[in-house]
Amino acid sequence: MKATQVLVLNSGSSSLKYQLLEMADGSRLASGLVERIGEQGTGRLVHTPAGGERRERALSVPDHAAALRAAGEELAADGTGLDSPRLAAVGHRVVHGGRSFTEPTLVDDRVLAEIERLVPLAPLHNPANLAGIRTARALNPELPQVAVFDTAFHTTIPDHAACYAIDADVAAAHRVRRYGFHGTSHAFVSRATAALLDRRPEEVNVITLHLGNGASAAAVAGGRCVDTSMGLTPLEGLVMGTRSGDVDPAVVFHLHRVAGMSVDEIDELLNSRSGLRGLCGDNDMREVVRRMDEGDGRARLAFDVYAHRLRSYIGAYFAVLGRVDAVTFTAGVGENASRVRTAAVAGLDALGPVVDERLNTAADRGPRLISPEYARVAVAVVPTDEELEIATQAFALVNA
Ligand code: AMP
Repeated sequence: MKATQVLVLNSGSSSLKYQLLEMADGSRLASGLVERIGEQGTGRLVHTPAGGERRERALSVPDHAAALRAAGEELAADGTGLDSPRLAAVGHRVVHGGRSFTEPTLVDDRVLAEIERLVPLAPLHNPANLAGIRTARALNPELPQVAVFDTAFHTTIPDHAACYAIDADVAAAHRVRRYGFHGTSHAFVSRATAALLDRRPEEVNVITLHLGNGASAAAVAGGRCVDTSMGLTPLEGLVMGTRSGDVDPAVVFHLHRVAGMSVDEIDELLNSRSGLRGLCGDNDMREVVRRMDEGDGRARLAFDVYAHRLRSYIGAYFAVLGRVDAVTFTAGVGENASRVRTAAVAGLDALGPVVDERLNTAADRGPRLISPEYARVAVAVVPTDEELEIATQAFALVNA
């Protein structure tokens, strides 16, 4: 039997998301989620086979191993367990690959040790990702495990865009530089944009805007990333659902010295009580737009700050790229919020991108252009598919 399926695992600190994909046609065979891993009380598993009934059950999930075993049972009931000969590989989303990992990587002990060494750069994410990899490996040691890094697509960013202008020795000693995140999504979406324009990825320059709960922009020249808005951590850059994005670093000293806040409190403030939520109390763009339309001034300001930051980055990336063929929106906000797309390119006509409001507000869901024919720079909406991208990269690696 030919192994043509890939299981994609995205393991967080208390949850495990999984998808099983058939690589012959990129279709989804099943998807699922195990929640409340390691928490008090019972966990929950939701499993949905393609074209089948969603199954949900409560279960005890003391750790990631229990979660993956439960997911494996559901998958086995549909025909592809973790020991199935149909399975070609497991693709793992790993958040931080530092400068070490520039491409998808077959996991061995050395790779695990290196991901472990990067834990200080992603203290919440990398340990959870490691738990997922170790568990999958233990359950089926024969099966290739492939790590696909959120940072990998950004390792082509030149030093002049990746270095912070701080003491070079301090930066080197503590690996302080801009790494960028959402790389799997920016890679997928920039390639899909080239296809939408009927061009090869090497021929086009694209500004990709991944606007979800977290948000980042990337400047992609001929398929290679040359700049991105997130930095050492996913806190830098655009205004997000609950994260501030760019602030003067002196805000931290000010809050510490003047307001007496601790570093941990300021960390929590900037990551969880800022962004749209900080500005108006809601982190969901749907609520922000609804309230704004009802005349709520705080929601209006939140939307305007969000849109202004977005426009500033789009403008900056025109300068970084020199020539831009397309501006592409993706993720929860980017794919759904036509108002955000309109506001993001408003006033940028002189640079080239224009939105056709009829196309922008149409009920289409697939990859599409929303700019008029005459626009010098296309504007596109491309639904992101990080699981398919991880599966594609993992499958290509094990078949190389
Ligand atoms: P993601 O992180 O890509 O799943 O995006 C999640 C975010 O997308 C949510 O917090 C919402 O703010 C936003 N979102 C989802 N659907 C819509 C919609 N129809 N209109 C505006 N924003 C949306």
